[in-house]
Amino acid sequence: MLTQACLVFLVALALAQAAVVATSIYLHRGLAHRSLALHPAADLLFRVLLWLTTGQRRREWVAVHRKHHTFTDREGDPHSPQLLGFWRVQIFNVYYYAREARNPSTLATFAPDISDDWLERTVFSHGWVGVGLGTAALCGLFGLWTGLAAGLTHAVLYVFVLAPLINGLGHWHGAQNFRNTAYNSRLLAWVTGGESLHNNHHAYPRSAKFSVRRLEFDPSWAVIRVLAAVRLIAIIGTSVKLP
Ligand SMILES: [Zn+2]
Ligand SMILES: [Zn+2]
Repeated sequence: MLTQACLVFLVALALAQAAVVATSIYLHRGLAHRSLALHPAADLLFRVLLWLTTGQRRREWVAVHRKHHTFTDREGDPHSPQLLGFWRVQIFNVYYYAREARNPSTLATFAPDISDDWLERTVFSHGWVGVGLGTAALCGLFGLWTGLAAGLTHAVLYVFVLAPLINGLGHWHGAQNFRNTAYNSRLLAWVTGGESLHNNHHAYPRSAKFSVRRLEFDPSWAVIRVLAAVRLIAIIGTSVKLP
């Protein structure tokens, strides 16, 4: 029988994985780099999932991320460990993200194509409502304290572990296939939705697939292939060549 702590951790892990894969597929590969085109049903599904599990606003995420690609590891990069130091990005990644996301000129310059449609204005812009509803659903499913603990553990995993591992460690240390300032971690890629194949991604930002070598695994790419097979996603950019 599962102990309470074990159940909390398993639920939190599943939520964090769902959130990180949705972030990678929808916000990162779909919207920020346009390497995927989503069927309206898949688009809505990802937006609801991200609203309930993260409360993030898509226009902000896209703008901050595109700015990171424009100024990678030089003046203007919102969260570069080369400029700020490894631990500052690892611990305060969420602060650097939020600071940049609040800058209206960042949104106007880097995400002019991401519109705030009716759904965004009336539903998804209310991030805390989404997170509150997601937490309420967890409490309904697993009981008050288990639900709260699982929601909180998920938030810590997503905000303070997985996202900083990509933005911090991904620009600090690891393996490289290509000459740029980002690094790969084949092991971490299993839990970051493939995002830790970050050196590959910076070499080919328009590629929908982040793995390039046989032993590299990109979990989000597996999900993309399934969604493409049922025509919920169209793959636009995939061309990657090893040097
Ligand atoms: Zn990067
Ligand atoms: Zn990117």
